[in-house]
Formats: sequence, structure tokens, C-alpha cells
Amino acid sequence: MSKVGLKPEHYDRYPHMFSGGQRQRIAIARGLMLDPQVIVADEPVSALDVSVQAQVLNLMMDLQEEFGLSYVFISHDLSVVEHIADEVMVMYLGKVVERTSCEQLFINPQHPYTQALLSSTPQLSPDKRRTRIKLEGELPSPLNPPSGCAFHGRCQYANERCKTETPELIETRFNEQEHWIACHGVQEKRIS
Ligand code: SF4
Repeated sequence: MSKVGLKPEHYDRYPHMFSGGQRQRIAIARGLMLDPQVIVADEPVSALDVSVQAQVLNLMMDLQEEFGLSYVFISHDLSVVEHIADEVMVMYLGKVVERTSCEQLFINPQHPYTQALLSSTPQLSPDKRRTRIKLEGELPSPLNPPSGCAFHGRCQYANERCKTETPELIETRFNEQEHWIACHGVQEKRIS
């Protein structure tokens, strides 16, 4: 409990007596009791205020260093991902569409879905702002995914091949870094 920033006077309290941030600290402490090497954290800060989010993220990063942990960190919030991740996998309809280092992904996104996601993330710095890409259409049902590339109904680069052939996740090197992308348009060099 002390490792996650809780004090001895907290130990006998009931759950309703803790704030959201404190409850997340308790959840992290419960995970650490099993002495894990890997922790899967599914949206661990999405329900918290932004200031508390930063505290919990910084705590997770400190614990990672102290205990030598790896995190599988699942999030829809790209600013949180940029803060905590070393490597990022972007998923669409349950499939990985792009994977590379965090730095590379944010500087040089290649998959059209990743580009659209990043364009919708607010940026304080004018240098980092991107032209907004608005996705048309609804997210299809994962129970009945579209043929070919699952993103083809919403992709501005889709062609006939995209409608019938599922793109494989293929390694492409950018800036001397490993970069995996599942997209016919990138492989055909129609997208840069
Ligand atoms: S495979 Fe085709 S539809 Fe899918 S993201 Fe690439 S260009 Fe767009």
C-alpha cells in the first residue's frame, strides 16, 4: 500500500471512502501482490480527472522502473499513450493495423486509420497540429466484419483490392526503425 502512495490510516477504510484515484492505486497494489512481470491495464486512467490521471500514470512509470514491470496498456486516449508507451499497436475492429515505436508512430503514422486518429487528438503546440481527417460512416460490427480490409468502407484510399483482399501485417522500415503496417495502399506506395 505504501508503494502506491497510500498511508497506514487508509488501511481500514471502506471502498466508498476512497477517491477514484485512490481506488486505482489500490487496484495497482492488488496486482503487484502477485509479483507479476507483466500487467495488463485496460483503460486504467480513463475514468479519472486529468490531474489525477497524470499522478496515476507517473506512479505506474515509477513502479515499472522499481519492479522491472512490462505493461500491456490499453487506451483510447492517444495523449496518454504518447506519455507512457515505448511501443504502440493500433487496432481496428480487433486486428492490429500498425505497430512501431511510440516515437515513430507519432512522428510518422502510416496507416490511414492511425493518421485519422492522430489528426483528431488535440495538440497545444501549433507545430504538432495536423490537418483534421474526418472519418465517414460507422464502425462496422466485429461480429460481421467487412470483406477485405475492415477499414475499406471509411478509407479515402480504398480501391478494389482493398474490398476483397485482407492486408497482411508487413514490416516496412521507416527512418531505420521497425514499422509494421497492414495496408495495401502503403505497400503499393499510394499513401505516404
Ligand atoms: S488496405 Fe486499403 S482500405 Fe485498408 S487502410 Fe489500406 S488503403 Fe485503406
